[in-house]
Amino acid sequence: MIKIDGHTHTELCPHGTGEKTSLMIERAIRLGFTEYHLTEHAPLPVGFLANYAGDPENVKTASLSWDQLDDYFALGRRLQRKYHDRIKITVGFEVDYLEDYEEDIRAFLQKVAPQTANNIISVHYLKDSAGGYYGIDYSPAELKAGFGDELTDVQQLYQRYFRAVLASVQADWGAKAIAKIGHMSLIKKYQDYFGLPTDFSQINMNLVGQILEVAQQKKLKLDFNSAGLYKPYCNDLYPGRQIIAQARQLGIPFEFGSDAHGVSEVGRGYHLFEYLDKN
Ligand code: ZN
Ligand code: FE
Repeated sequence: MIKIDGHTHTELCPHGTGEKTSLMIERAIRLGFTEYHLTEHAPLPVGFLANYAGDPENVKTASLSWDQLDDYFALGRRLQRKYHDRIKITVGFEVDYLEDYEEDIRAFLQKVAPQTANNIISVHYLKDSAGGYYGIDYSPAELKAGFGDELTDVQQLYQRYFRAVLASVQADWGAKAIAKIGHMSLIKKYQDYFGLPTDFSQINMNLVGQILEVAQQKKLKLDFNSAGLYKPYCNDLYPGRQIIAQARQLGIPFEFGSDAHGVSEVGRGYHLFEYLDKN
C-alpha cells in the first residue's frame, strides 16, 4: 500500500521549527508512510519585495533564500541516500503564485525541473486594488491591513483568492513542472477569527469549478492539507467540504499533505484522508 505525506517543509525553512528533517522522516517511517515529498518554499522572485506592502518582518522568513538552494538540494540527496531502503523521498518545491511574476516563476521551474518532483503551486499572497501584495496567512492583522474592506463582504475576498488560484493553474509552467495545487482554501485560515461564513457563494463555487476543470485537463492533484485543522482560527481542512465534494465528482485525485514544519506535525490528520476512500 502506498501512503504519502506529499507536502512537507525542512530544517532550512526560516519560519519552521528548525527541527531536523531526518527526525521528521523517521516519524513518517514509524507511521507507515512509504513516500515523503520535500516541498520547501521556493525563493521569492527577486524584485517581489518592492511590491510587497505587508509587514517586512513576515516576508523575510517566508521562503528559502536564493543562496540556500544548493544546501536544500544537498540535504535532499543526503536524506534520499540515508533512507533509500525505508521510504521514497522526493525533492521539490512549494512555489508561490504571484500574478506579476509569472515569467520569474516559469524560469525558476524550468531551471529546477530536472532535479525536482511533486512541485506544488500555492497562493499565499494577493494583490490589493492599489497593486500591493499582502500575505494571506501571516496573521489576521496583515490580512486585515490588505483586505479589511473585503472582510466585511468576504465573498469578494474569496473571489480575489480563487481568481489568483485560477490564474496559477492556467499559466503555462512547462510540462510536468507542477504536480499539485496547494491548500486550495488557505484564504480561510482566519475564518473563525473574523467570524466569516464557512460556505463559498455560488459565484465562488463556479470559479472553483473552473479551477478544477483546468486541474483535470492538466492532471494536477489537489493537496489534502490537514494543517488548517490545527490552526486556532481555521479549524478545517484545506480544502473543506464544498471543494472536496466537487473535486470528487470530477474524479480529481487528492494527495495527503501535512504541511509539517516540525516533527510532531508529520502525518497529522492522515486518518481523515482515509475517509475519502471509505465513503
Ligand atoms: Zn511554510
Ligand atoms: Fe503553503
